Amino acid sequence: MSFTLQGISVSSGIAIGHAHLLSHTSLEVAHYMLPKQFIGGEIARFDAALLATRTEFASLRSNRPTYAAAEFDAFLELHQMILDDPLLSVAPRDMIAKEHCNAEWALKTQTKTLVAQFNEFEDDYLRERQTDVTQVAERLLKKLLGQPGHQPHPARHDVETILVAQDLSPADLIQFKPHQYAAFVTDAGGATSHTAIVARSLSTPCVVGLHHARELIREDDVLILDGEQGVLIVNPDKAILAEYKLRQSAWELERKKLKRLRTARANTLDGSIVELHANIEKPEDVAEVKENGATGIGLFRSEFLFLNREELPDEEEQFEAYRAVAEGMDGQPVTIRTFDLGADKQIKGAERVSNNPALGLRAIRYCLAEPQLFRAQLRALLRATHYGNIKILIPMLSSVSELNQTLEFIAATMQSLDGEGIPYNREVKLGGMVEIPAAALSIEVFAKKLDFLSIGTNDLIQYTLAIDRTDEEVAHLYDPLHPAVLHLLSHVISAANKLGVPVSVCGEMAGELSYTRLLLGLGLRQFSMYSAQVPSVKQRVLTTNLPELAALTQKILRADDPLKIRELLGRLNA
Ligand code: PEP
Ligand code: MG
Repeated sequence: MSFTLQGISVSSGIAIGHAHLLSHTSLEVAHYMLPKQFIGGEIARFDAALLATRTEFASLRSNRPTYAAAEFDAFLELHQMILDDPLLSVAPRDMIAKEHCNAEWALKTQTKTLVAQFNEFEDDYLRERQTDVTQVAERLLKKLLGQPGHQPHPARHDVETILVAQDLSPADLIQFKPHQYAAFVTDAGGATSHTAIVARSLSTPCVVGLHHARELIREDDVLILDGEQGVLIVNPDKAILAEYKLRQSAWELERKKLKRLRTARANTLDGSIVELHANIEKPEDVAEVKENGATGIGLFRSEFLFLNREELPDEEEQFEAYRAVAEGMDGQPVTIRTFDLGADKQIKGAERVSNNPALGLRAIRYCLAEPQLFRAQLRALLRATHYGNIKILIPMLSSVSELNQTLEFIAATMQSLDGEGIPYNREVKLGGMVEIPAAALSIEVFAKKLDFLSIGTNDLIQYTLAIDRTDEEVAHLYDPLHPAVLHLLSHVISAANKLGVPVSVCGEMAGELSYTRLLLGLGLRQFSMYSAQVPSVKQRVLTTNLPELAALTQKILRADDPLKIRELLGRLNA
């Protein structure tokens, strides 16, 4: 049966392929019965997974990061205790023996029982430990699934494969890179979630917020994903399939043509220079930055170095990563953001439970609370400044006291490098991200203490409109054109321009073609976006005459009706 689902477009392009359904959580496991003669083997398989998980805990303990020793030990101890709880370590064995079911099913059933027990606790702390139970069970389950015969279904290479999942974390997506899926589809998620951002940086078409795709689509169904419109067509008829094949070729041809602009300067028709930089997540992304003609890196999300790994990167590994990017960019600016950990980007095995993760210990708050982690990063960053044009960017500043503390950290790190005779660029530029309305409203105070500013519209919109950017239920309310957002943007850009402090936008708005002229009209001259979008934005800049933007931009700022704002924007882009 053919049907169409509408979601939120997050990464454009057209993909045609076969569905592969991803079993997202450990609780989605197969249930099957085993003949009697296989029961012993199944119990041995469970025991082997148990042993492998114990060994993993032991190795985590011996390699624990020094900056979080006490915390990490406590967390490991708790997880080890949970693993050794008879409900997880013994009951599944008994269930396999008695019911002849597979080990995964036995584990799932016993995990549910244990979670239910934790749910009964009056004490909030104990009740919250059910998350730890699930994490331990997932770790054990992964070991089980890793046994021969249970490898996750990789992308097929004979046909294009489209991954369909309930939800994917940014870490999941990074892991899938080598599988080269043709597209990603998820039921959860919003347009500026970090999952969406990674999909864009992989140049892989992606639609999120589909709500029921995982339920309605079957393995191997033929799918057409229109990343531009956010549409997913399931089992299309021949005519639709042929139409989309044509559209796909046209889209690819257009991208090829745009790439010819690679070496052109991004000047407006009236001769103003606009800088188009790229956002990256990994050192390997530098090649794509150059391929697309970006003239610098406006945002290196350094926290991605932490995702998907058991052993965390130490100072040396970070230094090598930052140096590689700086050298790879041959003297062009490389803006490295200090870790924006927390919320949807958690260190594996050290996840923090928080009622409101986006409002919790995230970004600079997290770093200031983890001095050893922060110091190691600052040392690595400063050392790398000797090898290229590195700038340091601080995320999620909300108060000047946070900035002052950060400046003290940097001064102390410089002092210790001086003491060791290690070279670094003493004049390194320090910038701050404007992501919280409080920072935008008091921008002058920050601007006076910083060398540059970068507006993170993804979070600025999230915090201004009180809309969780990862929550598909409120994704329709996420509105970059909300008058409050536009006023904050205008305020920050004009204040920075007046003070002569360089300002850029590095949130997803910067790569959204329909906002290019609006941002130029607000006075922005520096944009940073996912690499693949640089050629399209460049083309828009090349066809823009700045003096023609002023009147309409002012009208947009004065308008309060959403429809009127959209109509005016249409005229600006005509
Ligand atoms: C932003 O918030 O706009 C931003 C660029 O940072 P991130 O998307 O990584 O939160
Ligand atoms: Mg942000």
